[in-house]
Amino acid sequence: MRLANTTWPKVENYFNENDMVIFAVGSIESHGRHMPLGTDTLIPDRILELIEEKNNIMIAPTIPFGACQSLSDFPGTIDIGLDLLYDLLTAVMNELYKHGARKFLILNGHGGNIKTIDRVALDFEKKGAMVVELNWWLMAWDLNPAWKGGHGGGEETAGVMGVDPSLVDMSEIEGPLVLKDISENLKATGFTSISYKGVTINIPRSTTNVTDNGWIGDDHPTTATEAWGKEMLQTTADYIVDFIEEFKKVELKSTK
Ligand SMILES: [Zn+2]
Repeated sequence: MRLANTTWPKVENYFNENDMVIFAVGSIESHGRHMPLGTDTLIPDRILELIEEKNNIMIAPTIPFGACQSLSDFPGTIDIGLDLLYDLLTAVMNELYKHGARKFLILNGHGGNIKTIDRVALDFEKKGAMVVELNWWLMAWDLNPAWKGGHGGGEETAGVMGVDPSLVDMSEIEGPLVLKDISENLKATGFTSISYKGVTINIPRSTTNVTDNGWIGDDHPTTATEAWGKEMLQTTADYIVDFIEEFKKVELKSTK
């Protein structure tokens, strides 16, 4: 059930009988030369479509933008920042709360959004609501450890292929991952991490100073397949459908 496609009397009826709503939060950001900028939004949107096939939960419109400061030097990346993301989530959820939502499921596509969603979740807990944070790519690791992957690596590339293989630029997918070390002995190992004498230290840098390509991870994007992506998105969606039924049984302290 799509909020944007539904009349207000029907939405009123829904919230008279239900207190659950789901929406996705993504990001528009570089995921490597081979990946579309909307990766973190496209994948949750597809999972929502798969959920919609099996469950009548109210689906509010996706928030396509997220917080991705370190990636914002890559062409096309749009970082709305932590403060605006917090204010936007708060405003949207306050309105849904006013209409009767108490159980919020946030299907998140981007690691940089997690701390802000955590903050909003704790705010809404104080109002008698409960926020479930569904970080799809982390859930997928638990559903099948073989799917574990990094930013724009095999896992996310497979996810996009599961949405639409034509969205991946196969002409750009080859080539080794090259990270820019800070010095001969301070070796870059990730977005912000470096290794010195076997110990990991965080040195936050703009990602363009860490890699020219934009994807980071141990799972090379060439390992991705459409079949992997389709199975991963379906399995994740099915898990969420099952979770929704279990979550319905939870009684919150406050009543509407
Ligand atoms: Zn991503």
